Amino acid sequence: MAVEKLRCKECGEGYPLEARYVCERCFGPLEVVYDHRAVLADIEALRRRIQAGSADVWRYSDFLPLAGGPPGPCNELAPTPGLPAGWTPLTRADRLAERLGLREVWIKNDAANPTHSFKDRVVAVACARARELGFHALACASTGNLGNAVAASAAAVGLPSYVFIPSDLEDEKILATGVYGSNLFAVRGNYDEVNRLCTEVSAEHEDWAFVNINMRPYYSEGSKTVAFEIVEQLGWELPDRCIVPIASGSLFTKVHRGFAEWIELGLVSGRAPTMSGAQAVGCAPVATAFAAGADLCKPVKPQTIAKSLAIGNPADGPYVLEYARATGGTIEAVDDDQIREGIRLLAETTGIFTETAGGVTVAVLRELARRGEIDPDERVVAVITGDGLKTLDAVRGTFEMHVIDPVLDEFEARIAPVLA
Ligand SMILES: [Zn+2]
Repeated sequence: MAVEKLRCKECGEGYPLEARYVCERCFGPLEVVYDHRAVLADIEALRRRIQAGSADVWRYSDFLPLAGGPPGPCNELAPTPGLPAGWTPLTRADRLAERLGLREVWIKNDAANPTHSFKDRVVAVACARARELGFHALACASTGNLGNAVAASAAAVGLPSYVFIPSDLEDEKILATGVYGSNLFAVRGNYDEVNRLCTEVSAEHEDWAFVNINMRPYYSEGSKTVAFEIVEQLGWELPDRCIVPIASGSLFTKVHRGFAEWIELGLVSGRAPTMSGAQAVGCAPVATAFAAGADLCKPVKPQTIAKSLAIGNPADGPYVLEYARATGGTIEAVDDDQIREGIRLLAETTGIFTETAGGVTVAVLRELARRGEIDPDERVVAVITGDGLKTLDAVRGTFEMHVIDPVLDEFEARIAPVLA
């Protein structure tokens, strides 16, 4: 396989492909390095192989950090394939585009994953790599969606799981984790406190694969598949702009990386898409730093209905700022009312019901269009990361329902003004 080593993103120090995530020299984050020379010998053959691949993230296994190839029934390293994540729909949203005064808007609908968020992608990769490395348990610190994905993925391959969440999470996300038989810990604190605890726990339980801690370099690579799919689904073309919500910033940086990687390798030609980031006003450390022209994010205490984005100290914040600026993008923040309106706007114009994080993304898309930052002729992709059934309270009370007796006259009286 093409995977070569881990390398520090800051100082360039190389490390073996182990369960490690931080540079011993400078404490910088580690990332996976590949040697693609072999697969690049015949680009057309590579494209054909991708197109003939399985309808999940493993069609891109040449760009994912497994030593022994994709998991599947023919692979002795990982005999149980796990949940089939990825290859979600890319839907053209003409009615939404029309409402926004734009020509071409697409929705990458990652609510269509097995546990209804993009986290199934990163967990699929982390889980497969964890099994290659011989781990016998999965764990994570989560704002909700990751917990759902880890618990389900562990159940699918028969491993125990340990999920740590803030105790004030939405019921839907708590229930959709516990149901898989996970060991669930609701921590009285915010995500940043949960994450700090998990860093300590992972040092004590070194035989647990913490997908977003000691597995982080492998885990984060899974997000590149969002970019790969967009390119493939657009007929091997690039979008002009991609709008991505920001929590830790990992999805944003890896979607950018996915586009950049395929441009560098010659799998697709053109300019790297403008990367626009979306945050909630109640947790906007990256948007604030962007507006101030700063290179680092100042941690905040989150207070927003977009709980899946409520990370006050985003690990990849500096890289998000760098890539947004390098591609001519921006990082925007929208308030809770705009988030609710974003959810409704997407639902009413596309039939796609997204959770609050998707409401943040659509509200930022609307704001950028309103301000004229998006050229009306741009091809825009909005990445919808999770399902609306996960955050039902966000839409409660945003529409009217007619409660009637089973009497035709009463119905006719109520429908008359609607039809008028
Ligand atoms: Zn380093």
